[in-house]
Amino acid sequence: MKTSIATVSISGDLREKLEAIAAAGFDGVEIFENDFLAFDRSAAEVRSMAEDLGLAITLFQPFRDFEGLPEPLRAKAFDRAERKFDLMQALGAPLLLVCSSVSPAALGGIDRAAADFRDLGERAAQRGLRVGYEALAWGRHVNDHRDAWEVVRRADHPNIGLILDSFHSLSRRIPSDTIRAIPGDKIFIVQVADAPAFDMDLLYWSRHFRNMPGEGDLPVVDFACAVAATGYAGPLSLEIFNDQFRSGAPRTIAADGHRSLVYLMDQMQTAEPALPPLRPPLPPRVAVNGVSFVEFAARDAEAENLRRVLGQLGFSRLGRHRSKSVERFGQGAINIVVNSAREGLAQAAYLAHGTSVYAMGLLVEDAAATLERARALDAQPFSQAVGAGELDIPAIRGVGGGLIYFLDQTSELARVWDIEFDSLEPDQADAGLTHIDHIAQTMNYDEMLTWILFYRSIFVVNKGPLVDVIDPAGLVRSQVVENQAGTLRLTLNGAESHRTLAGHFIAETFGSSVQHIAFAARDIVRTARALAQNGLVSLPISPNYYDDLAARLDLAPEQLATLKTHNLLYDRDGAGEYFQLYIPGFEDGFFFEIVERRGAYAGYGAINAPFRIAAQKRAIRPAAIPRR
Ligand code: MG
Ligand code: MG
Repeated sequence: MKTSIATVSISGDLREKLEAIAAAGFDGVEIFENDFLAFDRSAAEVRSMAEDLGLAITLFQPFRDFEGLPEPLRAKAFDRAERKFDLMQALGAPLLLVCSSVSPAALGGIDRAAADFRDLGERAAQRGLRVGYEALAWGRHVNDHRDAWEVVRRADHPNIGLILDSFHSLSRRIPSDTIRAIPGDKIFIVQVADAPAFDMDLLYWSRHFRNMPGEGDLPVVDFACAVAATGYAGPLSLEIFNDQFRSGAPRTIAADGHRSLVYLMDQMQTAEPALPPLRPPLPPRVAVNGVSFVEFAARDAEAENLRRVLGQLGFSRLGRHRSKSVERFGQGAINIVVNSAREGLAQAAYLAHGTSVYAMGLLVEDAAATLERARALDAQPFSQAVGAGELDIPAIRGVGGGLIYFLDQTSELARVWDIEFDSLEPDQADAGLTHIDHIAQTMNYDEMLTWILFYRSIFVVNKGPLVDVIDPAGLVRSQVVENQAGTLRLTLNGAESHRTLAGHFIAETFGSSVQHIAFAARDIVRTARALAQNGLVSLPISPNYYDDLAARLDLAPEQLATLKTHNLLYDRDGAGEYFQLYIPGFEDGFFFEIVERRGAYAGYGAINAPFRIAAQKRAIRPAAIPRR
């Protein structure tokens, strides 16, 4: 299936929009009338710009309040349509979108509307143009695609067809199966959009909160499968009204849009294998079996400080790279790489962000297939010069320009530590840390949808609900991306204010992404004691927190005393318990967390976040975060 997007979906002037849309790989574009009216070039110039960029103009839109009008308004509406036909011919736009009327002057009646469209079809035919009718969810008389189809069916004109829009149908919960009986050649174009599951006024929801398929909660795959089953041969065209996208970078939003359509077609093919091939097949979504390593770029005194903290956390230096200034620290199944090389991306990351996590390695079944899928979904592959005796590990760019490496068990990648590193004897008693529980990535709020789509389209992961985390200086939105087995857990945090701990981190590190790593402990109290013995002081939590815990939850006095002694935070749900211990952070706001899950507790202690954030801000150098 071909891909298209409406110019209204992204920011910029019409030229910037068209360039971004072409760069993202779309086949076609819908010209939104206001984008043309606000632009200072003629229709003929826009037409040749699109041609030069290799973009087909799929649609001109919208034409409002056309059908059902009494005379003399009816005649005026036809005159208006003729003027738009003139413009469309100059633009080379073959199809006009007429959305169902919201005019108080419009009269109801399927036959009246059908007669109007039959006449409009005649006029369009004389110009070699086509007209499609779309039911707005808030249309005055027609607000359901089934009624719009009935109007089109009765108009019975070859130049009149139906336009479907997933938002208008799904926001009203109209069953998608009702599309399957419509002849595919009478569907002139299909617009797709997703949206978060809000309960609000339909028009407001549509105009401000639409997002790319896969970013929201609507059953868009189901809708698109029903469309494809009709034999519809036109493009899937994004029509996204979203305040965030209107202020975002055009190329980023266009790239997200293209990724969303590739992923949508992939999901359609999986959901309904009987459909004809929609596009070249992709390797399936990738199951992640664990985080193999996390890699820091660090240097000099900062690297020394990091090594000291790792030692206090019970990590042993287990390997030294054969040719570079790179060390591997290990404990349980955790590998931490400290890269002090003055070359390659580690150098670039250090210079840009300071000491920071700039790469992580994920364990997958097939690293090469993972890279192939990621590439097909517009991820940016990464490679750099590989020295003698080093492996060329497949990698892509992730949040903040960092890397995601892919390691598998079937190739020599499984032996990366043996191949690239001289192994060393453990020099440290471990502290009972077993694996990485989760990794928290911080970003600007307006990047969150981008990265949620990135992770969901490439990997087998689900997204959790968007949670508001209260920082004393503002709101941070947090959303979890995780797999069922818990072998990949990422918490994405979107910051809007630089006064929040998350915003401070972005500013101080110039856009690094990994703000904290949470290690899982076998027995968190034992670990807390071991850390104390190693001289690592945990983050002090206010005594008020423990008074409240005692009031809220029915905890045994000894248990409460243990929590308080070790500065442990606590949460529980119906399935289990969660314990958290924080290590005071670095000045830029990066920190380590230690957690223990008992039973099947599936959360991340969100209820405790405001208290530990306040404690962390007290612990960071007092002037480090600007105050109000
Ligand atoms: Mg629409
Ligand atoms: Mg955490």
